[in-house]
Amino acid sequence: MRRAAAIPALLVMLWLVGRPAGAATITIMNTNLPGIGFNDPTPAAPVAGNAGTTLGQQRLNVFIAAAAYWSDRLSSAVPITVSAKMVALSCTANSALLGSAGPTDFWSDFVNAPGVRAATWYPSALANTLAGSDLDTPTPEINAQFSTNLDHNPACLGGIHWDYSIGGAAPAHTLPFYQTVLHELAHGLGFLTVVDSATGALAQGQDDIFEIFLEDHSTGKTWGQMTNSQRATSAKDAGDLHWTGPHVVAASPALSAGRHPSGHVQMYAPNPVQAGSSVSHWDTALAPDEILEPFATANPHDLLTTHLLNDIGWSLQSPGSCVPGADTACVQSGRFEVKVDWETATATGAGKVMSFGGQQAANDESSFWWFFSPANFEMGVKVLNACAFNGNFWVYTSGLTDQGWTVHVRDTATGATQTYSNALGHLSSTFADTGAFSCN
Ligand SMILES: [Zn+2]
Ligand SMILES: [Zn+2]
Repeated sequence: MRRAAAIPALLVMLWLVGRPAGAATITIMNTNLPGIGFNDPTPAAPVAGNAGTTLGQQRLNVFIAAAAYWSDRLSSAVPITVSAKMVALSCTANSALLGSAGPTDFWSDFVNAPGVRAATWYPSALANTLAGSDLDTPTPEINAQFSTNLDHNPACLGGIHWDYSIGGAAPAHTLPFYQTVLHELAHGLGFLTVVDSATGALAQGQDDIFEIFLEDHSTGKTWGQMTNSQRATSAKDAGDLHWTGPHVVAASPALSAGRHPSGHVQMYAPNPVQAGSSVSHWDTALAPDEILEPFATANPHDLLTTHLLNDIGWSLQSPGSCVPGADTACVQSGRFEVKVDWETATATGAGKVMSFGGQQAANDESSFWWFFSPANFEMGVKVLNACAFNGNFWVYTSGLTDQGWTVHVRDTATGATQTYSNALGHLSSTFADTGAFSCN
């Protein structure tokens, strides 16, 4: 069964987001016409974490980084496509629609879906991953749009601009585009209900997978157990509308406010209902602020939001897994993560895994590292399996440098870590640690 939805018609270009093995692949389909939005050629000075030299490229770089955030956390064998554009959304001196996003479709009773609730709506991307195949190949799973008014309309919010940095704090008089895209993509992945919050009516008479975890705490009923009028009342019962999913409840002690002693977490339920905001966000009472609150905040966290996606059915990447990258080597079948920091008299940085002729110079037990120039070997790190010999993994490390360095080795199976350091100005120490990590 399938719920009808509008499908975007304009396809221009694809960007593939890099990802660790097993991670969800999120592809961004830029549907802006040439010259505007993600294709805006206006020159731009690079900002923190974003080397783009045009407005359009900086916007796209942020979008790619935000998509990578979710693909690093969620696990899916079925790729996810996001249809994205930037257009002039409504904005006044005092309020602005920053962006919006949502699933393109909802599905129920799809094939090959063990453990999936019958007669329950699932958003496209989640339905696909649970089904193990794309239920509608030509159609993107998520539609997203963001406002260009913040950059081009001086009357919009008194001239506030988007901040296109990645990983930095937004300067004064800017709003962080990265946080906004993260927020909207989570809606597209399923952080929303399709129950009509004003009337309490179910979508085409069926529950959705988000709504069944909502609860009116004082009555003890979940939304799946309520009548329409009971849901409509619950939707504006501030403080009493709760999320009850087990993964969020387990993570909720991280909150200092917005949490019931039971571990249930408050959802946004103002009276009267605010269309587009009520119910499908965390309550603004939460502390620290979460990325899925209805209004942008200065320093939002993801202490619960990924766990909510887990509650509705997403599989998560193993939180301790090793993700190979330019500054990360994964050895012994990915059990051990190796990273290196370096230090000179004037600078510090992350060591990079060496490449020769495009081949990364790491095998399953050894990695070679450069600091300043890709061709200049500085040091090597080995993690050896000596389980049959003395029941331990051994770590050997040495360098050809008198710069400072610290090697970090982490056992993803146990969480144990070891560090080995060389002081700045000393010719490299050699470590041969035959008791580094227990095999058990
Ligand atoms: Zn509750
Ligand atoms: Zn939202």
